[in-house]
Amino acid sequence: MESWHKVGFIYAHPDDETFLSACLIRELADRGEEPVLLLATKGDAGKKNGAFAHSTNEELAEVRTQEMERAAQILGLAVVEHLGYPDGKLKEVETAPFVDAVVDFINKHQLKVVVSFPEDGGNYHPDHVAISQITTAAVLSGRCPSVEQLYYYFTAKLAEDGYKPSLIIDTLPHWAMKAEALRAHQSQILAIHRHFGDLIVCPESRRYESFVLAYDQGALL
Ligand SMILES: [Zn+2]
Repeated sequence: MESWHKVGFIYAHPDDETFLSACLIRELADRGEEPVLLLATKGDAGKKNGAFAHSTNEELAEVRTQEMERAAQILGLAVVEHLGYPDGKLKEVETAPFVDAVVDFINKHQLKVVVSFPEDGGNYHPDHVAISQITTAAVLSGRCPSVEQLYYYFTAKLAEDGYKPSLIIDTLPHWAMKAEALRAHQSQILAIHRHFGDLIVCPESRRYESFVLAYDQGALL
């Protein structure tokens, strides 16, 4: 991880950053880096459970933006920016201005390392697939000269295809921090419990945050 400087995470929804990369973000922040995050949506079409059952999409967007601010403090993110595209509909967003917005974010922060979803979105969520495509297109556009490396979140699908992770972070030593950041996304707590259990102990199946190098110094790997 020595080469990880000026790192930006580009995901679809508030909570993607914590699900996939809470401990990587925290480790970077603890090393004095200032990791930044770009989210394509505000999560306004997220599951509406309990107290949020009757919320409008606009109300949920506001709640989730506040939850994201709290999670960002826990994770040590220096910046969170939102593109505010409609949740669940990233596939319908016009490609060129979407790529432009990601290029602008990368250039504004002079990112050297970019992290996003893999091609399959990790779980085939259409928004995750879309942001992976757009981020990759931005990095490959020739308009982001600061970028040296693009990493994808490493998934079971990539393992099946014979790829090996380039970076593995053990969640266990950071579990209390990750659980707190997950709890910050309180409106999504049912989905979080489905994925991570009771949050008291780190489930072995969710123990590692893994990433694979997809693009290095001008070439897609
Ligand atoms: Zn998501």
